[in-house]
Amino acid sequence: MARFFVTTAIDYANGDPHMGHAFEKVGADAIARYRRLRGDEVWFLIGMDEHGQKVAQVAQERGVSPQALTDEIAATFLATWRDLGISNDQFIRTTAAEHKAGVTDLIERIFARNPDDFYERRYRGRYCVGCESFKTDADIVDGKCVLHPTRVLEDVEERNWFFRLSRYQAFLEELLERKPDFIQPEIRRNEILGLLRQGLEDVSASRSRITWGVPFPRPTSDGEAQTTYVWFDALPNYWTAPRFGGSGAAWPAQLHVVGKDITRFHCVIWPAMLHAAGEALPERVWAHGFIYFGGDRLSKSAGVRLDLREAITRHGPDALRYFLLREVGFANDGNFTWERFDERYVSDLADGLGNLASRTLAMIEKYRGGVVPAGQATSLDAAGADTVARYGQAMDALDLRGGAEAAWELVTAANQYIVQTAPWALAKQARDRELDDALHALAGCLLRLAVLVHPFMPGKAGELWGYLGQSAALPASWAQAEAPQAVGAQVRKPEGLFPRPAPTTP
Ligand SMILES: [Zn+2]
Repeated sequence: MARFFVTTAIDYANGDPHMGHAFEKVGADAIARYRRLRGDEVWFLIGMDEHGQKVAQVAQERGVSPQALTDEIAATFLATWRDLGISNDQFIRTTAAEHKAGVTDLIERIFARNPDDFYERRYRGRYCVGCESFKTDADIVDGKCVLHPTRVLEDVEERNWFFRLSRYQAFLEELLERKPDFIQPEIRRNEILGLLRQGLEDVSASRSRITWGVPFPRPTSDGEAQTTYVWFDALPNYWTAPRFGGSGAAWPAQLHVVGKDITRFHCVIWPAMLHAAGEALPERVWAHGFIYFGGDRLSKSAGVRLDLREAITRHGPDALRYFLLREVGFANDGNFTWERFDERYVSDLADGLGNLASRTLAMIEKYRGGVVPAGQATSLDAAGADTVARYGQAMDALDLRGGAEAAWELVTAANQYIVQTAPWALAKQARDRELDDALHALAGCLLRLAVLVHPFMPGKAGELWGYLGQSAALPASWAQAEAPQAVGAQVRKPEGLFPRPAPTTP
């Protein structure tokens, strides 16, 4: 049994969960569920990044403590992940004592191995009092902070600890050479290779003005206590997770799932930190793309809003999960529109899988008293075996869209098989053996499909599993996909598996 420790990026605790957060969780969840199906010992970690000045500011605006604010936000995120059927085994919060102790430990390990990896440097920058942070050129318009155009930016100088990232340039180049699949998909690997070619600069490891965070373990030479900067606080969550009571995580992670905007942190800074500390590296980083809404990038500031609650309730959480992974995919950018969501729901779920299940199970009920008959192998069995092989190849390669496509090709083939074999005609003509073959093949096909769609739609797959008269645990039933054993099962006609939607307006 292979170990499979999979993580998502931790979400910053300064607002509500949105579609981008959900997309990443749903994709990672499908991967985790697929690995469990294949018998891996999975540990699935998600969580919250709860430190930093923005969190402190929002708390101050609301008149609550930063801890109370992050408690509330973490609860909201967690409730959303329960609604979406996210099967995480652990939910880490960077304000937890175990995490903070782990951060300190990791930094001390680096000091112990290479005392020279951290050094003090004067940092001079344009500081916005409104944001309580240094601003880069991208945040400055007409000499003012874009968020606080009425305030004057101050020239501020402070001494900080820096991490000597530049020292790890050759190590990282060699890593990407030696492990070409360390970063996937390929387009992201090429971006990181390009970044490395430009040369790496050292990065801040501490800040003096941020107070809501993990104390940096060593004061600066002038005796000032500092706070650990974001990279050294957030990234180590994957490494500190095993320290929590009850955690089944074990370092290293087999897979980090992150957004394409933070590959630099996960593929450059993070492996360098781990190497500096003498720790093993994660095996793979997968960077997914972004969801666009009607062609526009989802963002608070641009005013493009796609209501996650509305998307979850529209056709149920499983339909949203399926749509995101099938239509948007998990490698590149993709588009969300309500029209397309509705279309796919009707064509793939109501008319596709839902129709297949209700016709098949109704016929078994009508012609065979609800008990799946024995039968000879048919062309549908051969198509099913082929589908399972292609599905496995796609899912092993983290090609979730390819996995869903393979499963739905079988849905289409099975619906065509019903039309071609016309079991109602066989029943009328009392061609019993042929009718048995057809009903047996269709029941086996549905068993296969319940297993294959489980990573995408765990709730609906479980319902279908129940209608098929199965009592074994679905997540441990990969064998029913490879060689379905349906004979003798007592089935029931499904009710409301994928109801056709009442007309709605977005
Ligand atoms: Zn500002």
